[in-house]
Amino acid sequence: MRIYDIIKKKRDGHELSKDEIEFFVDKYSKDEIPDYQASALLMAIYINKMSKQETVYLTDAMMNSGDVIDLSAIDGIKVDKHSTGGVGDKTTIALAPLVAACGAPVAKMSGRGLGHTGGTLDKLEAIPGFSIEMDSDKFIKSVNEHNIAVCGQTATIAVADKKMYALRDVTATVDNISLIAASIMCKKLASGANAILLDVKTGDGAFMKTLDDSFELAKEMVDIGNGMNRETIGLITDMDEPLGFAVGNSLEVIEAIETLKGNGPKDFVHLCETLGAYMLVLAKNVNTFEEGLDKIRTVIKNGEAIEKLKVFIENQGGDNRIVEDYSLLPQASIVEPIKATKSGYISRIEAEEVGISAMMLGAGRETKEDVLDLSAGIILNKKVGDYVNEGDIIATMYLNKEDKLKSAKERFINAYTIVDEKVESKKLVYGVVTKDGIKKF
Ligand code: URA
Repeated sequence: MRIYDIIKKKRDGHELSKDEIEFFVDKYSKDEIPDYQASALLMAIYINKMSKQETVYLTDAMMNSGDVIDLSAIDGIKVDKHSTGGVGDKTTIALAPLVAACGAPVAKMSGRGLGHTGGTLDKLEAIPGFSIEMDSDKFIKSVNEHNIAVCGQTATIAVADKKMYALRDVTATVDNISLIAASIMCKKLASGANAILLDVKTGDGAFMKTLDDSFELAKEMVDIGNGMNRETIGLITDMDEPLGFAVGNSLEVIEAIETLKGNGPKDFVHLCETLGAYMLVLAKNVNTFEEGLDKIRTVIKNGEAIEKLKVFIENQGGDNRIVEDYSLLPQASIVEPIKATKSGYISRIEAEEVGISAMMLGAGRETKEDVLDLSAGIILNKKVGDYVNEGDIIATMYLNKEDKLKSAKERFINAYTIVDEKVESKKLVYGVVTKDGIKKF
């Protein structure tokens, strides 16, 4: 078999076989295919697309390019949750303790942020002492004892994905549904969960900007998961405006804590309740979605969720006094209010631009090597649908280094559209994809 022939076949619009896909993934992971040939094949895939069958073969080959974790030593049905990424998405920090407090095991591997999107690991590291590194014995013991552990994805999982993702990032081949689906699902499948809940973001701050593409991506991933005997559900949720009010690592930790205390922002609470209820259904902890919702709301009200968060933080070496005392989290030395430039209703807050503004303040990375300022970020005061008067403070920026403040402010203000006519607030959940099909809300 020759990589040249595989590239030519895909270039000419033909379907690749299982053997050809496995050959490419295996040889590329072992550095036996150069980047220029891998780039040519990725571009041919991007332009001519892959069939469902090819996408399944690709996912399987990528999953087997590294370790496949065995979580069978953890009791119960392990449900993983994955978000396709966005701005202000602190969901795991609230959701993991919520679901664990309801009695379902949460054994989660998370990633870091890049560009305008944040990552759970960075957010958790804003908690003094918190460690996302643990060996598999401690990981399994933590879940068996406390129902909860979140760690970093090891370098040995889905080795092909790391190389392919880095190459896609610089060859304009990221936003292809088959390539995204295979990239996400190979890691989820290799991480060992029995069931998977996908939070597929849609809108300005997401990879998928349109609803149709988001449903298609969700369907592709749900079919792959179920086809590999892991019950998989995909929700399509809004990422047109940032989620909640907080963007930036320690600021988002505080918002997640407030949510567990019962004081969370409406959209974020709705998302946590919905995802939590589906996770409990997948874990067979409840029989119906409604029963799941009830249980999630109960553990917020009776304090069990916040207690679970404290145990989770302590078990991973963190200082759990932060739950009651936010001054123990990293603090910004500069606090800059942002004022509305005109009166009217907010009709749009471009999530990606807000994410980039927060990144410029130090909350995100432009390159993998950048060091984060965990205290930096933005708190929004208003969301789409709210009325503002000219001069009202619509947000506050937190930072330590002033060098990019002026340009970050400009970008942030330009992310807002303010109009005269009344605007409805945004819908949060657009639909659900299960093995039985698509349901739009
Ligand atoms: N997240 C991933 O892990 N892979 C992609 O291709 C896109 C988002």
